[in-house]
Amino acid sequence: MDIDRRSLLGASAALASASAAGAARIGTRPRIRRIATEEAFATPEQLDALRAITRSNWNNEDANFWRGILSNPDDERPAPLLDIGEGRLRDMDANGVDMQLLSLTSPGVQMFDADTGAAIATSSNDRLAAAIARHPDRFAGLAAIAPQDPKRAVKELERAIGGLKLNGIIINSHTNGEYLDQERYWPILEAAEAMNAAIYIHPRTLPETAIGPYRDYNLWTAMWGYAAETGLHGMRLLTSGVLDRFPKLKIVLGHMGEGIPYWVYRIDHMYAVTSRRLPVKLKMKPSEYLLRNFMITTSGMNHLPAFDYCMRVLGADNIMWAIDYPYQASAEAVTFMDAASISDGHRAKVYHGNAERVFHIAPA
Ligand code: MN
Repeated sequence: MDIDRRSLLGASAALASASAAGAARIGTRPRIRRIATEEAFATPEQLDALRAITRSNWNNEDANFWRGILSNPDDERPAPLLDIGEGRLRDMDANGVDMQLLSLTSPGVQMFDADTGAAIATSSNDRLAAAIARHPDRFAGLAAIAPQDPKRAVKELERAIGGLKLNGIIINSHTNGEYLDQERYWPILEAAEAMNAAIYIHPRTLPETAIGPYRDYNLWTAMWGYAAETGLHGMRLLTSGVLDRFPKLKIVLGHMGEGIPYWVYRIDHMYAVTSRRLPVKLKMKPSEYLLRNFMITTSGMNHLPAFDYCMRVLGADNIMWAIDYPYQASAEAVTFMDAASISDGHRAKVYHGNAERVFHIAPA
């Protein structure tokens, strides 16, 4: 009986110590810091300005998306977007998410006129900096800028990175059908490179000149159209020569690279075949810029075969974990990354190490 009692006591002591360590260990693996890198928020000023657009008769799919949300008082999407405090932290705590890198939800400020866009970028960056100051170990954030006026965008970039100490820049793909490789936007690329601020190119719908065939079957949405648009933006940066002009620029693409990693062989092959007709010659192959200047994130792509492929093509130093909160569920993104068949060292890079390096986040 004594022996039984002793082993019972021993077992319960082991249980108690296992549960004390439970916060730090999952199974036999150490608990790795999780920084989610494409997490959306909204501000009241942004939603008010979007609401004004939705009251117009502008038949634009970004406007239609927000028309659907903002015209319905029962729509549940604005509340978690507007919450950059307790409700968001509760979701993070429930899913073991240590930090969210926040960014103003798509299409950010890029549908507004230049003055409105610049004003909302400024107020958003101030609100973001205040939220980070309240919870510096839980939130980091990307600065919104309004490319409509590149000169003012540079001023805001310098204020947000240099003054507010935000962690990088968010740009929601095209601005009025124009892309960052175009010369009028070079001052933004130059400033981002000089301040070592990565530019996260987030999706929005295709410009009105291109969206026609995508309007059928909801193809303009995140099902396909967002990747077609944002992948095109990435390809323009890769092939235009701007990465020879700004060799230290860091570009981040979500959604496992918006399709580009899958195409690298054909991109290099066909670039070599067709580039003699181009006015600008690249110093390297497109895939070499992809490895040198680009990072990708796993946002909204909780798919292990695609992740395994990207690890082979891009490597563990170039991929960061993301959820796409609140549009996608934190639990699924955590389960996916915990299940990936990679070493703990690689998992640590994808979950937090790369984000700390690229976005200047202090290690825990
Ligand atoms: Mn997103």
